[in-house]
Amino acid sequence: MNGTFAEHPEIAARFPDLHPPFDPRAAVVEANRCLNCFDAPCMGACPTHIDVPKFIKKIASANVTGSARTILEANVLGASCSRVCPVEVLCEGACVMHGREERPIEIGRLQRFAMETYYSSGGRIPLRSRPERKQSIACIGSGPASLACAAELRQQGFQVTVMDRRSFPGGLNTYGVAEYKLRAADSLHEVEQIRELGVKFETRKIDAGTLDHLERDFDAVFLGVGLGAMQRLDVEGVADAGPALMDALEFIAGYKTGKRLAVASRVVVIGAGNTAIDAAVAAKRLGADEVTILYRRQRENISAFDFEYEHALKEGITFVWEMLPVRLTSAASGLTLICTRVRTDASGRLVPVAGADLTIQCDVIIPAIGQSPLFELLQQARGVKLDKGRVIIDRATGQTSNPRFFAGGDCVNGGREVVDAVADGKRAALGIAQWLGTPAERSAATGTPPWLT
Ligand code: SF4
Repeated sequence: MNGTFAEHPEIAARFPDLHPPFDPRAAVVEANRCLNCFDAPCMGACPTHIDVPKFIKKIASANVTGSARTILEANVLGASCSRVCPVEVLCEGACVMHGREERPIEIGRLQRFAMETYYSSGGRIPLRSRPERKQSIACIGSGPASLACAAELRQQGFQVTVMDRRSFPGGLNTYGVAEYKLRAADSLHEVEQIRELGVKFETRKIDAGTLDHLERDFDAVFLGVGLGAMQRLDVEGVADAGPALMDALEFIAGYKTGKRLAVASRVVVIGAGNTAIDAAVAAKRLGADEVTILYRRQRENISAFDFEYEHALKEGITFVWEMLPVRLTSAASGLTLICTRVRTDASGRLVPVAGADLTIQCDVIIPAIGQSPLFELLQQARGVKLDKGRVIIDRATGQTSNPRFFAGGDCVNGGREVVDAVADGKRAALGIAQWLGTPAERSAATGTPPWLT
C-alpha cells in the first residue's frame, strides 16, 4: 500500500487546500481565544467526544504532542476528521462564542494543526500496553467505521483483519472525499498508522460464501461495508448515453486516482447533496466551462450543508431548481436532456408544471442521487436483520441479531458523516470486546437480544 496514486502534480495544482492550515504562531493565538469551558458544548457536539478544551489548551502551552494524543484517545481518525468534519454544524456550531457574538473557535483547523504537526514529526498512534489475545475479528470494509473498530480492538490485544475489495484501504476517505478537503495520500497515511498497531489488511472480494467462511473462521465479524453504488438515473434514453453518464462517486474516484484529469466542457450534475457539490466543483476544477446542478425541489430542501452550497456558488456552479429530468438523447455533438418543471404540493409530492419544460445541451451527466444499500450482500449475513436495507443493531453495542456480527457506519445509518462512522466503529469494538471478554459475559450476550424481540 502506498499513497502515490493520489500525488499526481496536476491534481495537487487543481485541488489546493480549501482552508489553509495554521502556522504555529497563528495556532497558539487562536488556541488562546478558547475559554476552556467547564461543560464544553463543543465536546458534546462531537460524536466521538474529543476533549476539545484539553487539546486546545495543550496547543496554547506549546504541547502539540499532548494535544494530538488527546485527540487520538477519542478519535483514531483525528487527522481526517479535522479535514472533513462539517465543524460548522458540530463542534464549532456549538461553541459558546456564538452567544457572545464572537467568531467561534476554529476547532477544526486547530485539530488539523495538532494532527499534522504530530504526524509530520514522526508521531504515531500510541500503543496501549495490554496482553495479546487469541480471539480474531474480521472487519469487512476498510472505511472509517471499520478502521475505528479495528484500531480499538487491536489496542485491546485482539487479532484484527480488515478486508476490502478495493486495492487501497480507507473507503470513502481515500476514494470519495473531494481532494481539496482530504487528499487520498493523507487518508492512506492515516491507515498506515493503524496498520502499525498490528492490524492486518487484505484485499478481498466479499460475497455470500465469504461471509459464511468468516463467521466460521473468526470469533466476531464487524460489518462496516458502507453503501453500494449510486442509484441509477431512471430516465428514458439513459442506456444510450454510454461513458458520458457517470455516477458522482465514480467520477470523484476517477480524478483522485489520477485516471481522469480532464472533463468535457458542459457538465450537468443531478442532485444537490454534498456529494453532488463535490462532483460539480471537481468538474469545474478539471476544466469544464459550464457546470449546472439540477435539483427537483427548492433551495431550502437541499441536503448539502449551507457552506457547501455557498462554496459551489463561489466556484461558479449554476443551480437550476424544480427541474426533473425526463428524457435523454445522445448524439455525436453531445447530450440533450429534457426536463420538466415541477412544484412540490402540500403533501410533498412533485407535480409537473405544464408548458415549462427545459432543454439542456451538455457533454457529461453526473447523477448524484444517493447510494443504494448493499442489500444483496447484507442479506447473506446469516441471521442479520435488516430494515429497508440497513442493518439493525443494538445502539449501545453495535451487535446485530446474529450475536457474532456487529455493524456500524453507513450500512447502519444510511449515510452520515465520517465522524459518525468513527464513533460507531469504536462503540462496536467495545461491544465486541465485552462480548468476547469472559465466558460469563459472552453467555449473557448470546441469544436474541431483548431489543429485537
Ligand atoms: Fe473553547 Fe468554544 Fe469549546 Fe468553550 S465551546 S471550550 S470556547 S471551543
